[in-house]
Amino acid sequence: MTLKKHLLERIAQDGPMSVADYTTECMLHPTHGYYTTRDPLGVKGDFVTAPEISQMFGELIGLALAQSWQDQGHPEHFVLAELGPGRGTLMADILRATARVPGFHDAAEVVLFEASPTLRAIQAKTLKGHEPRWIGSVADLPEAPLYLVANEFFDALPVRQFVRDGNGWRERLIGSEDGALTWGLGPQAEQVALKDRLNDTKDGDLVELCAAAIPIITVIAGRIGTHGGAGVIVDYGDWHSQGDTFQAVQAHEHCDPLAMPGKADLTAHVDFEPLALATRAAGCAHSRLTSQGVFLERLGITARAQALATQLDGPKHDELVAAHRRLTHPEEMGNLFKVLGLYPSPSSPPPGLEP
Ligand code: SAH
Repeated sequence: MTLKKHLLERIAQDGPMSVADYTTECMLHPTHGYYTTRDPLGVKGDFVTAPEISQMFGELIGLALAQSWQDQGHPEHFVLAELGPGRGTLMADILRATARVPGFHDAAEVVLFEASPTLRAIQAKTLKGHEPRWIGSVADLPEAPLYLVANEFFDALPVRQFVRDGNGWRERLIGSEDGALTWGLGPQAEQVALKDRLNDTKDGDLVELCAAAIPIITVIAGRIGTHGGAGVIVDYGDWHSQGDTFQAVQAHEHCDPLAMPGKADLTAHVDFEPLALATRAAGCAHSRLTSQGVFLERLGITARAQALATQLDGPKHDELVAAHRRLTHPEEMGNLFKVLGLYPSPSSPPPGLEP
């Protein structure tokens, strides 16, 4: 049975489904899910992420985390964790860049949170020799200082969408008509989680709610608040997202999210304010949102690119120049992508995320 047929049957049985339920089916269905069945990354895949563009991204983040570890008294055991590590490229770059930081590798326990068995197998290969351990739930993160990265993880979590109607909301739902998946709206209802959004929206406005992100960020902030550490969360989005950002991408092109369930990547922009609020509620501090371009410049990406450039010529040199531009330029990833830093209240933010 195809995933589309499965979805149509589910809708026939249970009625229209939320965007979040649709996303979960499309991404994580055990036999047809997008992430469960493939490696979507890279030039031949559907999308390219910062660590896949250049090793500089992971190297600079690695050195920032190591600096933060030293600033916090270099605890002799800590967890070096990543959420949604993709091919393991970012963690590999972090580990390579920090290999010469005295004591860092000996103290680090590498822990990965990954839903896809396909990507887990690739991560195991990429990170051979570092003995990573996979956890099935973020709640399984050990009670220890935590240094964590997440790049393009939160955008992959399912969102629900709501359209304002008076002082209530109508949920955007996916139903079916003549064997096709179609959009519709549920009945008007109050939504406790959207109470604050009545202040900055008007009738007809659409907002998104990523409920799955909150328990995850709460655990992470709890570990960092209690045991120390730092978190670097990179994603596209803004402090307060508004409007429909639910999107599908296949072979580097945007497509209709309902057209090819399970065959296109589905994401939504990250709404950073709820993450930041949950961070504080869990006893941890957070940095102001910094754009990826500014973050990488502060960490010295231009000097790093210049140093690498002296060893290269021809197409490799041009590739490096293009990668630097792609990661930092405001018209490329520099502005769209944001970085949120987590750190224990009395400490300073991780390097690159100072106010
Ligand atoms: N961080 C990587 C990959 C980003 S793609 C990079 O920058 O290249 C999103 C990653 O999150 C993939 O590894 C995907 O399998 C994982 N992922 C998506 N939803 C998840 C979930 N609910 N739980 C755990 N991992 C998830």
